[in-house]
Amino acid sequence: MSAPAPVGQRRDELAANLAALRLRLRQACADAGRSPDEVTLVAVTKTFPASDVRLLVDLGVTDIGENREQEARVKVEECPDLPVRWHFVGQLQTNKARSVARYAAVVHSVDRTRLVTAISAGARAAGRTVTCLVQVDLDERPPSEGRGGVPPERAVEIADAIATADGLVLGGVMAVAPLDADPRAAFALLAEVALAVREAHPGAVVLSAGMSADLEEAIACGATHVRIGSALLGSRPPLR
Ligand SMILES: *Cc1c(COP(=O)(O)O)cnc(C)c1O
Repeated sequence: MSAPAPVGQRRDELAANLAALRLRLRQACADAGRSPDEVTLVAVTKTFPASDVRLLVDLGVTDIGENREQEARVKVEECPDLPVRWHFVGQLQTNKARSVARYAAVVHSVDRTRLVTAISAGARAAGRTVTCLVQVDLDERPPSEGRGGVPPERAVEIADAIATADGLVLGGVMAVAPLDADPRAAFALLAEVALAVREAHPGAVVLSAGMSADLEEAIACGATHVRIGSALLGSRPPLR
């Protein structure tokens, strides 16, 4: 194993990646006729250490995303002093919902009513309000590979459950583009689902879509939150 890079060197690397990413986001917004102010960058720091979170926040990042409960909890505990909004973006087991509700500002991956109930209980116990997004499964080839999400036609049902749950605020919708599919077609479908949810719940304006490989397509389809990992932090070791 090689020694970790000195902090100064890692800071320079993250600063350069962030500058390039901001440029890409600005260009994508310009191409879509949108203002960059409409798009929030969520830096997904999974597999990277809390020291990277610290550097990113120092460089001006305000929103940090994690996809595994245990890793997220440890990192949150390592950064109690940082002014960060924590986003939970991964699949969430019901028995981990209470823990996530203690620190997450936004849970992007809500796809069943039992999970709504569990996050609501956790939020109430912690005296917090948690914004929840309905994760939509855009893969039309069932069964999709366990990345979570409800079929588009059930999104409003989950949205209704979130909107009526104590301690929760319905933020909007989220999706991951299916593998080997045209991301623009997938995100166009997500935009339709988002519209249906907004018709029932006008305040639910969040559209969380777009990762390192497809942020342009997501912004063209109206993304308000992009979730960026590798383009910012570098490539991750393969997930086991
Ligand atoms: C890891 C992850 C991302 C970021 O992916 P990159 O391709 O590294 O930008 C976004 N969303 C979710 C749900 C993730 O798990």
